[in-house]
Amino acid sequence: PDLEGLCARQSVCRACDRLVEWRERVAVQRRRAFADERYWGRPIAGWGDADPRILIVGLAPAAHGGNRTGRIFTGDRSGDWLFASLYRVGLAAQPTSVRADDGQRLIGARMAATVRCAPPDNKPTPQERAACLPWLAREVGFVAPSVRCVVCLGGFAWQGVWPALREAGYGLPRPRPAFGHGAEVELEPPPSVARRDPVLMLGCYHPSQQNTFTGRVTEAMLDDVFTRARDYA
Ligand code: SF4
Repeated sequence: PDLEGLCARQSVCRACDRLVEWRERVAVQRRRAFADERYWGRPIAGWGDADPRILIVGLAPAAHGGNRTGRIFTGDRSGDWLFASLYRVGLAAQPTSVRADDGQRLIGARMAATVRCAPPDNKPTPQERAACLPWLAREVGFVAPSVRCVVCLGGFAWQGVWPALREAGYGLPRPRPAFGHGAEVELEPPPSVARRDPVLMLGCYHPSQQNTFTGRVTEAMLDDVFTRARDYA
């Protein structure tokens, strides 16, 4: 299939019993503030440009964010920080992302989750990450011809994207560099990609509430990483 077909097939995946049960239970029980909304309650596809220069990889959808709205980082606090930064550096058309039909648009960028169903406590198991790997790997493969920079939000995405990049044909460094905010790694593009200059992989602390409340990640820190990504790409 093409990228669109891949997203459609993924949207009905039921491979992980625990996550299917959780995503659907959350969608029925709902949070009081969203009691009159219909939750998506299914896997969250990648979203953004079909030929992106920047691929942003996150952990997994939030139970009442992406699992509610059907779009990654949309309708949750992490997304508030992320989209505000993307807007400031010119990678998003609007500073907020609240609903799938809000007119938001990524500019030269695409987002995808390492695990595509909302996990309890935002913690997928290693088995769930492995089960979801083929979806990320195929998406990474589809966008490889245009991607110049991969931004990983958090250590889980940093670890989770390596096998997807390897499956997509990227040449990876050994040993794998450690995750850190602002960490940079050069990747060799897949042999099928005409451009041979390195693809830049960047680490960025996840804009989770835990990190933003404590000041571990600030607006300036996010802007630095996305400015670097934009300028490189
Ligand atoms: Fe399928 Fe991934 Fe969701 Fe597991 S987490 S059910 S593999 S889409």
